[in-house]
Formats: sequence, C-alpha cells, structure tokens
Amino acid sequence: MTSMRWLASLALAAASCAAPQAGPSDRPLNIVLVFADDLGYADLGCTGAQGYETPHLDRLAREGMRFTSFYVAQAVCSASRAALMTGCYPNRVGIQGALGPGAKTGLHLDEVTIAEVLKPRGYATACFGKWHLGDDPKFLPTRQGFDDYFGLPYSNDMWPRHPERPNGYPPLPLIDRETVVEKNPDQTKLTSSYADRAVSFIEKNKDRPFFLYLPHSMPHVPLAVSPDLAGKSARGVFGDVLMDIDRSVGRILETLAKHGLDGRTLVIFTSDNGPWLSYGDHAGSAGPLREGKGTSFEGGVRVPAIFRWTGRIPAGRTCGELAATIDLLPTFARLAGAAAPAGRIIDGRDIGPLLRGEPEARSPHEAYYYYWGLELQALRSGPWKLHFPHEYRSLDGKPGGRDGIPAKYVQRRIELSLFNLDSDVGETADVAAKHPEVVERLKALADKAREDLGDSAAKVQGKNVRPAGRL
Ligand code: MG
Repeated sequence: MTSMRWLASLALAAASCAAPQAGPSDRPLNIVLVFADDLGYADLGCTGAQGYETPHLDRLAREGMRFTSFYVAQAVCSASRAALMTGCYPNRVGIQGALGPGAKTGLHLDEVTIAEVLKPRGYATACFGKWHLGDDPKFLPTRQGFDDYFGLPYSNDMWPRHPERPNGYPPLPLIDRETVVEKNPDQTKLTSSYADRAVSFIEKNKDRPFFLYLPHSMPHVPLAVSPDLAGKSARGVFGDVLMDIDRSVGRILETLAKHGLDGRTLVIFTSDNGPWLSYGDHAGSAGPLREGKGTSFEGGVRVPAIFRWTGRIPAGRTCGELAATIDLLPTFARLAGAAAPAGRIIDGRDIGPLLRGEPEARSPHEAYYYYWGLELQALRSGPWKLHFPHEYRSLDGKPGGRDGIPAKYVQRRIELSLFNLDSDVGETADVAAKHPEVVERLKALADKAREDLGDSAAKVQGKNVRPAGRL
C-alpha cells in the first residue's frame, strides 16, 4: 500500500469512528415502489373499478395518501421508466418510446438511478419485474445500482406470439440477475414469482434499509393470471389480473407488518402509463379522462398513485396537487438523507411537504410538460392545460378489440386548445378564446422548455439534453 493510500484509508477510518452510531431510529426508511404496466386511472377499487375488487390497494389508500393529479412523463413504457429512474424528463436523458429486443441503446450508465442514489446510504436494492431501459447485459438493472434483478427486460408482448406480428420478435427472455433462465416463460406465473422474490428480499433485508422496485409486467397485454384466480372476476381476465396484482401487494404488506416495518417503510403504488384502449376488454379504463396510452391527453399520462408511510403520511387523505414520477428520486433522496445526483439538471422536485400533509404545501411545478418523443405536445400550469397542434391516435368512440386482439386506431389532430382541468378533467371544452392571457403565459413557459429540452415540432434542439447509452 502506498503511503498516500494508507493515509487516505486512515482518514476514512477516523471519519467513520467520528460518525454517530446509526441506531434503529435513524436508520433510513425502506422504500417499496410497485409500478404496474398500462394500469389506468380508474382501474383500482378506490378509483372506480367495476367488476372486481382491489381490497389491499384500497386499504393502502385508506392508510396513506392518494394523489389525484399524478403524472408519468410520457405514455409509453421506456420513456416513462427513464423518467422514474432518473427524476428527469425522458428526452433529457435521451430515451423515447418503447425499446425493442436487441436495442442498441439503453439508459446511459452515467445517469444516476434511484438505486444508485440510495446505495451509498447502505440500502439493499432489488428490481423484480419489467426493466425496459435496455436489454443488453450492459444496461440491465444490475449495472444501474440494483443488487438483484429478476424479470423481463422489456414488454411481455415482444415475443413470437404477438397478435399482430406473429414470429416478429425473438423468444422472450426471463432473466435472473444477468442470466437468461427461461425463454417464452409461462406468463401466468409472472405476477406471483415477482411477489415471491419481493417477499424473500424483504425477509432477508429486514434489519437494514432496502429499496424494492417491483415493476409488474401486468396488466400489459398479453394478459396472464395465476391459475387459481382465472375466471374469478366479473370483468374477465383483466379483472382477474388486477386481483392478482392486488393479492401480490397484500403479500408485501403482510410481510412488512409481520416484521414490524410499517412505520419505517414508504410503500408506493402507481403505473407507467394509462390503458392501452385498442385492446378493448383486455385494456384498463381511464375513467373520466380523455384517451389512453400513447397520447398526451390525461388518460395517457395521469395515473393512480398511493403513498403510505404509517405514522408519517396522514392516513385517508387525497392530494390534488400536481406531482409526478420524476419527483420520486429527489423525494427519496431527501427522505433517505442521500445526496441527489450532482452536476446535472434533475427535473423532479421533493414532494415531502405534500406527503406530510403540510397545509401550505403546493405542487413544486410551475409547469409540467407533456412530450411525445421529442415533440412538446402540451403543458400544464395550475388547472390550465394547453395543447399545441398535434396528431394523436384514437378509437374515435368505437369499441376496442376483444380477447387480446386489438382494434385499429385512427390518427386524429387537435389544434391549439386550452382546457381547465379543475372544471373539465375530460378535456372536452376548448376555452382558449376566452382566456388569451392564459394562453400567452403558457406559450411563454413552453418556449423555456423548448430551449432547454427541445421540440421536434418547432425544430428546436434542446440545450440541456444528455445522450442515451449506446452499445
Ligand atoms: Mg406501459
């Protein structure tokens, strides 16, 4: 050992001796983040589901706080997950759309994920479920701060049995850490096998802080349910699958309670985007919200969100302030006493004051931006949402498909339109002509975003965007 290194290690040892002993009370809190796939705003019992019940999720909402204006960054898998993991708009970190098998890109290894934020505070970290930020081993969760990983590297329909592209995809790998353990796995086992892993992870790490990220493959199509729940709901297989997810949340809550961890664990349930409406009876519901997955209407990007931290988050509340998945990273960093990623722009903000129910707490976002790919399609500030002219997919009021076969979307176009989401959550009445001053204020906010993040529709390159990782 060189003398410099010896001195450095001596200094480190002295520093750790001087640090206060971490007792049980100042141990950072555990975080359990359950992330459903394509689960819509109205797909929980507590948000209006019909034909099945979600008693464990409803209980979670009763024991915690439910947000009613909670957003993902884009209504598509990879972009949404990039935002969740980095606290940034996905175009900030170069990820768009849904990455396909063998993608040459993935989340850049220089980006700092939630797991990497928490690890220096002594957290055990695991991801059980769908990753979708690059399927090359170089981009898997094990390279992005997670100690353990088990699941699908991308969407469960990207396999040879795709209804519209038979044999259009390679065999679907099920991965344990970095090893493919099965191809084209029996999807009826996915939800329960993720829950099995989650329960053992909690058991194994009950005496230290942990971050458990559980991004379910379901209810993304093709729907598949644990055999004992098949046919149990009056809503068909979609309802059965929601019962399966609900049961798996119940198992996690039971494990936390059994080990006395309720008071030191923040449990969150939300979804990556709204329902894939073209799948009809195999799709969820956005309730009163317009459109669904793949659009910048509320049905695409506004999702249910429940936060429970027994004794710290007031129970049984709803919060109508705007918050988003990008806020989770800075919020977790603050709660865990961890450092937020340095030397880069992070778009999310700490929503701790909202979670604590502080009476004066307000959304930390003056404006929230709805991008689709690199196109700025809309923005929201307070109750006002301004759409810029853009195309979108729609069923045009026609029913979706049946039995796992999707109906065809048509392309529609919306012109510049202003909606007041407080009085018109369904985005039905354009009030731009009545509120020209609001339109001007939102346009000015949009110009700031264009300069910062870019906008393909305006042919503007963002000044502060970072590249995706490349093989
Ligand atoms: Mg999705």
